[in-house]
Amino acid sequence: MARMPADTHCPYCALQCGMTVGGAGTVAPREFPTNRGGLCQKGWTAGSLLSHPDRLTTPLVDGVPASWDSAIGHVADRIRDLQAAYGPDSVAVFGGGGLTNEKAYLLGRFARVALGTSQIDYNGRFCMSSAAAAGNRAFGIDRGLPFPVTDLDDAEVVVLAGANVAETMPPLMGHLTGARLVVVDPRRTPTAERAVAAGGLHLQPVPGTDLVLALGLLHAAVTEGLVDRAFVEQRTSGFDDAWRLAAQWWPERAERACGVAATDMRTVVSWLAGSARRYVLTARGAEQHAHGVDTVTAWINLSLALGLPGTPGSGFGTITGQGNGQGGREHGQKADQLPGYRRIDDPAARAHVAAVWGVDADSLPGPGRSAVELIDAIGTPGGPRALLVFGSNLRVSAPDAARVAAKLDALDLLVVADFLPGETARRADVVLPVAQWAEEEGTLTNLEGRVLRRRRALDPPPGVRTDLDVITGLAAALGFGGFPTTPRAVFDELRAASAGGPADYSGITWDRLDAGEALHWPCPEPGHPGTPRLFLDRFAHPDGRARLVPVDHVPAAELPDDPYPLRATTGRVLVHYQSGAQTRRVEELAAVVPDVFVEVHPDTAARAGLVDGAWARVESRRGRVLARVRCVLSVRPDTVFLPFHFGDGQAANLLTNPVLDPVSRMPEFKVAAVRLLPVSGE
Ligand code: SF4
Repeated sequence: MARMPADTHCPYCALQCGMTVGGAGTVAPREFPTNRGGLCQKGWTAGSLLSHPDRLTTPLVDGVPASWDSAIGHVADRIRDLQAAYGPDSVAVFGGGGLTNEKAYLLGRFARVALGTSQIDYNGRFCMSSAAAAGNRAFGIDRGLPFPVTDLDDAEVVVLAGANVAETMPPLMGHLTGARLVVVDPRRTPTAERAVAAGGLHLQPVPGTDLVLALGLLHAAVTEGLVDRAFVEQRTSGFDDAWRLAAQWWPERAERACGVAATDMRTVVSWLAGSARRYVLTARGAEQHAHGVDTVTAWINLSLALGLPGTPGSGFGTITGQGNGQGGREHGQKADQLPGYRRIDDPAARAHVAAVWGVDADSLPGPGRSAVELIDAIGTPGGPRALLVFGSNLRVSAPDAARVAAKLDALDLLVVADFLPGETARRADVVLPVAQWAEEEGTLTNLEGRVLRRRRALDPPPGVRTDLDVITGLAAALGFGGFPTTPRAVFDELRAASAGGPADYSGITWDRLDAGEALHWPCPEPGHPGTPRLFLDRFAHPDGRARLVPVDHVPAAELPDDPYPLRATTGRVLVHYQSGAQTRRVEELAAVVPDVFVEVHPDTAARAGLVDGAWARVESRRGRVLARVRCVLSVRPDTVFLPFHFGDGQAANLLTNPVLDPVSRMPEFKVAAVRLLPVSGE
């Protein structure tokens, strides 16, 4: 049923552009600081999915339409049976970085209280986990951007390390028009093109060597006398130890390892040191490595040596990807965390959250497995036998996709709550049809740590329930009837659970958000203005100092060799979002990029016997993808690129390496050894 137009935000990325959604699902851009009235194609077309013919509107049990009561009852019965036979951890939960704060929070409470399982993690593990771990290590707290996006308007120099914002977040480019840009990317992306055209630089490292580049930059800063000694002395610790390792990476040596000219390194450092307003921003290109935490740390070390973080008009930040990537990692759907961004192994945090939940702290499970490890454990003794998935399309988004598919197929019970039949939902034992963004109320936290209201513009189709209804319904069926049921009630409980934690939402009331405020956490009491800028006086470690952490280069886990001589790297394109389950169904977007492709340098294509437009088999040690060849000069001759928005035989993650970062447990999406073969060879 149509309602009144609602001022809300885009359902896709973390920029959370303002938009107004009409009662018929029409979308109009709305003025908001991050987008200033702009939208990208994905935002403009988001309304078309509300009435898409593929919408799921009926629960399915073993492929057969079922009533909600019987579907929920069936899932609850199966959970009870499995847990009676195999213990609480035999049931696992998998969430998503697109879920509202309320869903992420309630999912964590549901897992740890109603299921009593430690086995919960989410797809943010594939997205921001390395940046989060590096930020916590360096600054004592992790908020993607510790300053508002609008601060970038006055920047003189911005380094974008592994961020292709011209395609992933086009309105963000509007905040960078006054800055000289340095883009670090193995591809000459549209962002890199814009940087060069405006007098900036494109640094094109070999995939997997970004850390060496950052070390080379730090070396140049030190040896050219450009370090901000007063800042380092007064506001940081660990410089000498970090320098001891960076000292081995003089720019010429770094050039040999990463392929970026030493002269360019010195130029970038001189630009950063010679400007009053300068920023270093990282994104997935720096993070999605088996040593992503150390790579982000190397960029942080450089930023601290130059005195950027916590300095008005300058800073270090990471650009969150998913719509609620920031909030999604704060409220307890992560294996090692409780709400308020608290550690699950912290006794004080457990006691606080247990009191809010009305349970004994000792009854709360400890840390569970991270995403890839959770999937890997399926089919092993003590591993999950049932998986409940909310807001994630694992068959496309997880690394080593063929292995993931086999693991999911081995489950006794796979339950997927979704609004479209994505690849994971299509193979589920139970499918629960849920509402979309414009059909529900809630809050999200954007890339600036700013909490926003998502508003309902129209009612969901008949037969559809919200994720919150599904979670509370399942909890009730398992004998846990006391869960809050409305988004506002869940948010109020979330505020109480977050009080006193690093991400303190207690002063952000539903009424303040409804009145038009969009507050940055921490906001510890009603009336508090929120905290748009962090670290101006002190960092969040007990001594108030930021920490430089010594890091050194470790090669990618899988290097090119004779059988697999190329490096494959993966990423996004302008018209698609994440696993593509949504954007592949939008006619205007699918028409632009209907299928997977592989970008290949013309020399590399010629050596492989391929021409532009031909089909090629891209093979790694884990799988193969059939992809259309795009011969482009924008990739290095030693590298090929595939977008990861496609499923089944087109999934780039059939190729990727599931080796994990030792700290963040992030998989190495950005480097896999591959070979190219003409399809005629089949
Ligand atoms: Fe804005 Fe991101 Fe939505 Fe595009 S996808 S309109 S950049 S929020």
